[in-house]
Amino acid sequence: MISGTTEIVVIAGAPIRQVKSPQNFNQWFESRGQDTAMIAIDLAAERVGAFAEAARGWQNLRGVVVTVPHKQVFAKLCDVLTPRAEALGAANVIRRDANGTLTGDMVDGFGFLGAAGGHGFSSPGRKALVIGAGGVGSAIAFALCETGVAQLRLMDVNPDRLSALATMLREHFPNVEILLSCDSLASLDLVVNATPIGMATALDAASEPGLPLPAALLDTLSPGALVADVVTSPDITPLLALAKAKGCRIQKGAEMAKAQLEFLGGFMGVMPAVDPERLLQPTQAPAAS
Ligand code: NAD
Repeated sequence: MISGTTEIVVIAGAPIRQVKSPQNFNQWFESRGQDTAMIAIDLAAERVGAFAEAARGWQNLRGVVVTVPHKQVFAKLCDVLTPRAEALGAANVIRRDANGTLTGDMVDGFGFLGAAGGHGFSSPGRKALVIGAGGVGSAIAFALCETGVAQLRLMDVNPDRLSALATMLREHFPNVEILLSCDSLASLDLVVNATPIGMATALDAASEPGLPLPAALLDTLSPGALVADVVTSPDITPLLALAKAKGCRIQKGAEMAKAQLEFLGGFMGVMPAVDPERLLQPTQAPAAS
């Protein structure tokens, strides 16, 4: 039960009804008898600045998990950013220190990698495709480069977003081959849908197949690839259904969200500290597939 001694973390976005973090965090706190609670805030875009200012003086606030559409705005309002949040221009978690300082990080990509590790994927030497150069796709692409993929292909229907992401990644990771086209999926170890294509609402609204790539290109998918989707509803998107039918390993959107919990909680200081950098430790490069 929330009382006068309870320390608070919040998740802020708009809309907020769909988020699962409050259940996940509060179950975790309750199971350990920890006097901490998460509340969900439906935060109007025009009040994000006022909220950040209030957060500096909110003395029992430990941190903020930031979701769509506020990740970019919050990054501008933080006092300190980690280098990856700075490069991505977005923050999905903010720690409030005792003196009111707000420090932002972006751990979407680490949540993705944490889940992918559970499917036997590790980046060094691998070839990956990320479809979608928006907030989540950029974070995943950055984390894949940080952890040592050899080649990263990027696709997006928005050419400006695509070239901005490619420029930023080439600057930070000159050793990774960044390509902006894809004629075949045959050599890829990882294919990630980081677009909203395949979401239940979009599927209801259109008679589209809900696939982020043309059928002919998907025909070239290797059964050895891991195919991942960031879309959380439906659980099995049309892309994941197709990949499963081809014998590929699949990773659901919910797995990425779940794997983020420890990074978010650890960064805010309400769960044991986990160093996301541990995912960056070089591991022996597996034989190229
Ligand atoms: P965004 O709008 O920032 O980016 C989406 C990108 O996809 C855009 O750049 C857009 O141009 C591109 N795109 C759209 N249709 C495309 C197509 N057919 N082919 C290629 N590119 C296309 O959105 P975002 O914040 O990155 O979120 C993307 C999805 O990720 C949403 O569905 C969101 O709900 C989901 N999400 C999942 C998690 C999780 O933990 N699983 C976390 C955050 C967001």
